[in-house]
Amino acid sequence: MLELKNVQTFYGNIQVLKDVNIDIREGEIITLIGANGAGKSTTLLSVSGIVPPRSGDIIFDGKSVTGKAPHDIVAMGISQVPEGRRIFPYLTVMENLDMGAFLRKDKRAVKKDMGHIFDLFPILAQRRHQAGGTLSGGEQQMLAISRALMARPRLLLLDEPSLGLAPIVTRRIFDIIKKVNLEDNTTIFLVEQNANFALKVAHRGYVMENGRIVLSDTGLNLLANENVKKAYLGG
Ligand code: ATP
Repeated sequence: MLELKNVQTFYGNIQVLKDVNIDIREGEIITLIGANGAGKSTTLLSVSGIVPPRSGDIIFDGKSVTGKAPHDIVAMGISQVPEGRRIFPYLTVMENLDMGAFLRKDKRAVKKDMGHIFDLFPILAQRRHQAGGTLSGGEQQMLAISRALMARPRLLLLDEPSLGLAPIVTRRIFDIIKKVNLEDNTTIFLVEQNANFALKVAHRGYVMENGRIVLSDTGLNLLANENVKKAYLGG
């Protein structure tokens, strides 16, 4: 469904991604783990068109998205949940969700999808008229994921959903990620520093070091890998 082929991405003349190759099949949860500054966020920003690669190619559903504008990439079926959530703090929960459906013309279906979101996240239904900025960190993460889902993506890009959240809240968020993957058949590309959580939900994972993919395997095999344990799992 998504293929990154020899992707090289730069900020000015600093090269961050070096020959990155990643392959994601429809229906999978794929995680990219790695240390701070390894280039994980840049990988997602390259896919969503915010920081386009300088060379290489990114293919989605057989079509190249390289060099396309971010809104065109959203329209093709890829939505991103940015690191740090970045919901609209002064808009209500419902208005935030409406913003996620900005490009859609099927307004009746949008309404139905909002109902589906409220089934998935009953707390957001309770808080529907509350300003986004007044929600807790976990609720804001749920809102950020929901806002991205309102575009009806086939591929959801998630940048560090666990950032700043207590373990119990992180567990809830990961349960919801699994549910979205299973029930809505949404393919998920998850970037995480919390490798332990991420490898447990992912079908397969990639390990990035200094802008390069150094290892890839099933989530379970990576959890058992001695090098991964030492570097990313605290033991
Ligand atoms: P983190 O978990 O801290 O977000 P990451 O693996 O996602 O780390 P990136 O955010 O992709 O890493 O950053 C990769 C490298 O690119 C880092 O060295 C970072 O300092 C640099 N970088 C990121 N954004 C920019 C930018 N806008 N301009 C210049 N350099 C940047």
